[in-house]
Amino acid sequence: MKNKNAFLESLEHAFELEKKYDVPAVDILLISLNMEGVNYPFLDSKRVRFKMSPYLINEEFYLALTNTKDSRWTHNGKKLLFEKKPIADAELAENDTCDSTYFRKFVNIKGHKIGTEMTINSNNRRKCSGCKFCGTYQLNSAKGDEDDLTSPLKLRKRINHVLINEKLEDLSYVRGISIVTGCFKNEKETLEHILMLNDVLKNNYNFKGELKYMGSQMTSLKSLKKIAEYVNPATIAMTIECFTRRDQMLKPKKRVSLEKSREILNSAKALGIGTTILYIQGLDPLDIFAEEIKKYIPVLTNFPIINTMQEYAPGQADLRHPSANKIDYYLNARKILENIFKDKNLKPKVWQDYRGLFFTKYNGEKLNGIKI
Ligand code: SF4
Repeated sequence: MKNKNAFLESLEHAFELEKKYDVPAVDILLISLNMEGVNYPFLDSKRVRFKMSPYLINEEFYLALTNTKDSRWTHNGKKLLFEKKPIADAELAENDTCDSTYFRKFVNIKGHKIGTEMTINSNNRRKCSGCKFCGTYQLNSAKGDEDDLTSPLKLRKRINHVLINEKLEDLSYVRGISIVTGCFKNEKETLEHILMLNDVLKNNYNFKGELKYMGSQMTSLKSLKKIAEYVNPATIAMTIECFTRRDQMLKPKKRVSLEKSREILNSAKALGIGTTILYIQGLDPLDIFAEEIKKYIPVLTNFPIINTMQEYAPGQADLRHPSANKIDYYLNARKILENIFKDKNLKPKVWQDYRGLFFTKYNGEKLNGIKI
């Protein structure tokens, strides 16, 4: 049976596409690998994450992938191979969970590698279910109940543990903290949770950076005003995910209408809150993608965070729009974004988006900066 996540025909195919679309072959390889997943036989885990450096470029990337025997990409413990041809050096992988607290955007400070962006999965994301493309609830937990950080006591316990692990005194080096949660009962609880996190992180851990809420449960002007007043600086990254079939794809709590989402982002922006959207590439036809994403331009202060659709659970490949079953779809999506955002001073951030569309080049220019 055909592997529905396998889009690249051969390594030569990547070089042909490079010429045709003027997209670096390394970006094409990374897009394809992200969607197909990897065969990593050393861990009995549905998802794995690891660092790798492709031979085509002198740079390192971090990947979080589905671990499947069906993939033609194999990790032999040292190298990553496509159909037995080595394409990158790769470090050993670890289990990819969705409930841990982890760092990104590493910099060297006084000889130590320190993560300057942190993600907190603070409210039972593992137990959240209902969106068709999501598979986080099927993943192993890092350590039992670590994903419930909904009280100041639990949060402090977790942060203390992280600080010891990372050999950090406090969170003063951290520039941004992203809060990723499973859905709360309602907006009120979501807001209280964000304000609680804000208090603890700033008052107890010397955090002075930006707090970023990733979700769609912050919808009223009243809540946004509270965020603007107490959480400063703040960003709202609305989990839009797709533009079509929203009734089928999203659980009811996430089904904010597209128009309403723009109203919310517009109000947030007017209040001085940073804005962006999270979107899954592969669920919509490209003409609708282009038409809809354009409407968000006036309300965004950051480039959208675009993730290519990965198959967390068997069968999810069938959710893709039929036109998204070809690698060309993703290369055309890049062109659409470059064109729509050409007059904006916004760029994708590779460290923020390990399964995005852009890895080394955007709009004809090299994507410099931190990748992991
Ligand atoms: S809200 Fe949807 S996408 Fe987010 S964790 Fe829950 S089921 Fe998954």
